[in-house]
Amino acid sequence: MIETATKGKIVIAGAGVTGLMSALRIKQLDPGANIVIFDKADRPGGMYQSFVYPNGRVFDHGMHLIYESCNPDVDDLYREVMDEQDWHIYAKNEKDIAGLFFRGRLQDYSHYVDLRSFSETEKKRFLGDFMFNLEAGSVDSRRSGRQLLLSQFGNEIVEAVHRPLVQSLYGMNIEEADRFVVKETALERVILFSPDTMLDLMQSDKIRSRLGFPDQMNLPPYRTNDQKALYPKRFGMKHFIERLESAVKQRGVEILTNIASLSLHCSDDRVDSISIVGKDGDSRELAISTLLWTIGWPGMAHALGVNMSDVSMSNGPKVVYANLVFDKSPEMGRLYYFYCYDPGFAAFRVTNYTNYCPAASADGFPVCVELWPSRLGLEASQLSDEQCLALAMDELRRMGVITDSHKLEFSAIENKGGGFPLPSMANTDGIREIKKRVFDKGINNVEVAGIMAEDDLFFIPDILNHAFSVIEKTFTEKNRT
Ligand SMILES: Cc1cc2nc3c(=O)[nH]c(=O)nc-3n(C[C@H](O)[C@H](O)[C@H](O)COP(=O)(O)OP(=O)(O)OC[C@H]3O[C@@H](n4cnc5c(N)ncnc54)[C@H](O)[C@@H]3O)c2cc1C
Repeated sequence: MIETATKGKIVIAGAGVTGLMSALRIKQLDPGANIVIFDKADRPGGMYQSFVYPNGRVFDHGMHLIYESCNPDVDDLYREVMDEQDWHIYAKNEKDIAGLFFRGRLQDYSHYVDLRSFSETEKKRFLGDFMFNLEAGSVDSRRSGRQLLLSQFGNEIVEAVHRPLVQSLYGMNIEEADRFVVKETALERVILFSPDTMLDLMQSDKIRSRLGFPDQMNLPPYRTNDQKALYPKRFGMKHFIERLESAVKQRGVEILTNIASLSLHCSDDRVDSISIVGKDGDSRELAISTLLWTIGWPGMAHALGVNMSDVSMSNGPKVVYANLVFDKSPEMGRLYYFYCYDPGFAAFRVTNYTNYCPAASADGFPVCVELWPSRLGLEASQLSDEQCLALAMDELRRMGVITDSHKLEFSAIENKGGGFPLPSMANTDGIREIKKRVFDKGINNVEVAGIMAEDDLFFIPDILNHAFSVIEKTFTEKNRT
């Protein structure tokens, strides 16, 4: 949909990793490109920026490693921005050591739900239904999360496990869930067998795509790619973002932060210019050749004056970050992080930074609890910092992650209202409708990348693969003309 013109700037909305990496890619393809990026925050980086406290302590937005895209155009850029020696690079079974708190127990061997603690009778029901289900046809093409889960596991497991789980996490009936729930919450497998039995069963593709291996550190080399996970050797993803920002600026790209509002000025089929007003009241008008929008379809529609009043979409859980430092290591073994799926908890995920960045524990052991207060029927904005801290500490104790002998040395609560997308079919339909209305405007110099630019785009590897393919198409076409 992009048509590039020779006059005007390439304007990128959003200076998160998508906006910044996109700017570098455009510069690779067209070194003369005149690019401006703008962002409402006071610093670039988006969700990959770190919180920095007055005492110098640093925390990320919960767990945020960078997983490679398995696309050299993207992955080589990470190493160009920051030398290989400045990254921790985790491969194979070290790439993602994740666990789960499920049925009152911390699983440090896998983040897939382990059904082996159910009764013998229940397990027989699960297994019989699961095996018969393997014969069933392939997944239909609709968006239903329940349909996808049924095709993976059969009705018995979905009713006993996934129905309460989706309810507990999202406060949503499983019938309302989009198939994206499976990807967003890593529900694609369950555990039914011991490692020995699984070694045998994993010869089958059908089984391997449904059943998890219950010993992640000894998972056989079945992976189809050599994807790695990257984290700066210095603690804080901000160290990567700072290098990324400076690489972007060195290539002559301008970054405008602290943007208060914007308006687009369009002719029949183009966005001609954008007016940007800063929080300090200063305003700029920029002529646009191409607009790359990385901040979501609803914002795009709003900026183009598309009516969305009849499109109903619901917000996902609000996230509160409880950033804590203890005097000794939390009881999490080697886990980088684990999810909490049990009802009765606000915690969605707990991260032990030291396990993937040893420098994190230079002065105590930093831990982040990502709280979703909605899981307990609480409104995040109504909770004081003291209440959030008490919730996080109580839940860590109940999960056995800390004991009475752990001393809290530092705490900070971040409750600014950011959310997790609600993976409902109504939301997917809403985004599709908004996209359609934007396309109907016939604007031909705008492209949308970033979270939910296409169905299921949420994690950075997929987002950057999509963004780079959009850019490739645009700038290869431009260079050809
Ligand atoms: C709660 C949560 C947890 C996550 N956990 C993980 C995880 O564990 N692993 C993982 O791989 N991914 C995770 N993700 C997804 C990951 O954060 C995204 O893939 C990644 O941040 C996408 O980068 P982005 O640049 O597209 O968006 P963002 O990082 O969101 O950056 C968008 C930028 O746009 C700016 N912006 C927004 N609106 C406007 C506006 N109107 N005007 C100007 N600027 C604006 C923002 O300030 C921000 O700087 C998580 C996401 C969330 C929300």
